[in-house]
Amino acid sequence: MDALDYIIVGQGIAGSCMARELISRGRKILIIDNSWKDAACLVAAGVINPITGQRLVKSWRSEAAHPYAKKFYRGLEKELGADFFHDRKILQLCKSAEERELWLSRRHDVGYAEFIGVENPPRSFENLNDSFGSFFIERSAWVEPQAAMDAFKKYFSKLGVIRFENFDYGRLDLSKNLLQYSGVSAKKIIFCEGWQTQNNPFFSWLPMRPAKGEILTLKSSADISNHIIHRGGWIMKCGENLFRVGSTWDRENLNSSPTAAAQNELLAIAKNMLPAESGFKIAAHSAGVRPCTATTRPHLGSHPEDPRLLSFNGFGSKGYALSPYFARHFADHLENASPIDPEADLKRHVKKFFKSRY
Ligand SMILES: Cc1cc2nc3c(=O)[nH]c(=O)nc-3n(C[C@H](O)[C@H](O)[C@H](O)COP(=O)(O)OP(=O)(O)OC[C@H]3O[C@@H](n4cnc5c(N)ncnc54)[C@H](O)[C@@H]3O)c2cc1C
Repeated sequence: MDALDYIIVGQGIAGSCMARELISRGRKILIIDNSWKDAACLVAAGVINPITGQRLVKSWRSEAAHPYAKKFYRGLEKELGADFFHDRKILQLCKSAEERELWLSRRHDVGYAEFIGVENPPRSFENLNDSFGSFFIERSAWVEPQAAMDAFKKYFSKLGVIRFENFDYGRLDLSKNLLQYSGVSAKKIIFCEGWQTQNNPFFSWLPMRPAKGEILTLKSSADISNHIIHRGGWIMKCGENLFRVGSTWDRENLNSSPTAAAQNELLAIAKNMLPAESGFKIAAHSAGVRPCTATTRPHLGSHPEDPRLLSFNGFGSKGYALSPYFARHFADHLENASPIDPEADLKRHVKKFFKSRY
């Protein structure tokens, strides 16, 4: 068997986008994934949101990454005959008069106007708690995580480029020019294990700051708008009489086990947004860990002592929004030696965090 160009470890959203990009460039690849064990990509909301955080700032690199992501997902849907990408506005309900002022001032900022729609006066929406008014966030979208990941998996399986097994780091042989792993030779290997990079002996030195998040799926006959509704937390329609509510943040307990405390927190969010009389039942409760980094920027690049070992990781709470664009960006670097975005280049961490094994 001829040598592969790349082995990719992890078929989360990062590994899937990287694999797709390299396949489209004619590269020979093999993906190894342990069947989404503790994967964040299936728990995610899948929202592409240009304005985030308490301070209502533009999401990092959103101007380039979001339009590209939309084009990428639409194209993929069409090619695979799948249905997982939806243009959806975010309806931001103001929690107070102060928050309303902040939104109003942002709306007049140069560079923000195209993302923030006109103000909806209080009580514009019959079934929502919008007593301080609301705004639409434009250019947002929703990728349905399970449907998108299933489509990717089917596509890689059909091409015969994926193996479902755990990658055992101890079995990677670096002694020859070509890497050897379990009967396969490859020029390079790209690690995309999300937060589970903590088990990776080559890249666990990078400064990660993972955050567990939980989401509830509720069954309810509530008749609320089809937008992604934000008010502290968020709620969105995800099927006939089904809503998803999210999400929590926990930096201490890094595992994929749903908790009673998060359930209560999420139910309180739902009660605050859904009309009291609508009633709802919990249909599902899921938890995952976001691969957040200490600098809130991804970790892209090669190992300081072996350029064949590569990291494509650290997409935090924005894996769906950022992975398509950065997969193309990283492939340009790997194939054409173009520079990595300095904020995402893992080189910036070497001096402070990397200790040689030799
Ligand atoms: C509650 C919550 C809400 C979120 N909401 C959003 C959102 O609205 N928008 C957004 O863009 N992002 C959101 N995210 C973030 C998003 O889920 C992550 O950024 C994204 O999943 C990271 O992708 P990844 O491929 O790096 O990691 P993962 O999705 O974790 O995938 C890593 C893959 O590698 C595999 N793997 C790991 N180790 C091995 C090994 N040794 N051998 C074989 N396979 C291995 C795993 O099984 C998994 O399949 C949310 C996350 C959470 C938890």
